[in-house]
Amino acid sequence: MIQVNNLTKIYSNGTRGLDDVNVNIQDGEFICVIGLSGAGKSTFLRCLNRLNDATSGQILIDGDDIAFAQGAKLRTLRRRIGFIFQQFNLSTRLSALENVLAGRLGYHNRFVGALGLFPQADIDLAKGALERVGLADKFNVRVDQLSGGQQQRVAIARALAQQPKLILADEPMASLDPKLSGVIMGLLKSFNKDGISVVVNIHVLELATAYADRILGFNKGRLVFDGPPSALTESE
Ligand code: ADP
Ligand code: ADP
Repeated sequence: MIQVNNLTKIYSNGTRGLDDVNVNIQDGEFICVIGLSGAGKSTFLRCLNRLNDATSGQILIDGDDIAFAQGAKLRTLRRRIGFIFQQFNLSTRLSALENVLAGRLGYHNRFVGALGLFPQADIDLAKGALERVGLADKFNVRVDQLSGGQQQRVAIARALAQQPKLILADEPMASLDPKLSGVIMGLLKSFNKDGISVVVNIHVLELATAYADRILGFNKGRLVFDGPPSALTESE
């Protein structure tokens, strides 16, 4: 379980990106985060994975606080959180398989080695993740030869191959043809069956209500809604 207590992020210019946010995320939940542009959705996800540092508060992962953890402790905990970006953030000159293997090292760790560096078990795991997202025939294709939708699926496989407890996705459909939204959401949702929690920032409300078990609504850095999609429509 992930427990967020009194999480506040004040940017250096004084903007309150997050204001005293409290939320618990259970294993295997599918959560969509909604809110207007500037509401704090991206700051929330980025703080959860320490791409941004919070100003104060706690982020407990099975009781371990990562909000201010450093060094090896931070790396270990972070390995349990996969992050999917709007713009994929892949190494476009490397193959799909190399990108997924790079995720085994941590997405922030620029992949410089050769496939031979990895144990066969890692390679099998990475191939399994690519198969899971429907890219079994693309292992050795360079990412810049793939379509946008295929690239995002490589990014999803990269997150999955980290064997995470939690996957965070920041507007993962925003750079794609809207027709692909259902494919991406369906894939993310399928990971819940393995007990992985998924938190997706999304600006299309219909997609959020169609897929989420639970919706978090942000406004001006504050968590202003936390409940099932049905409660959202009732409150309108
Ligand atoms: P959303 O993802 O909901 O669009 P963000 O989390 O990006 O919202 O932004 C929340 C607030 O924090 C906004 O007012 C935004 O302008 C501000 N903000 C985001 N990043 C920074 C930054 N690096 N420096 C200062 N303010 C920022
Ligand atoms: P989003 O997709 O979340 O709406 P934005 O376009 O608001 O992203 O922001 C793009 C980048 O600029 C992000 O890295 C964000 O952290 C940063 N940023 C956003 N608002 C501000 C701000 N007011 N001051 C400085 N940086 C900002």
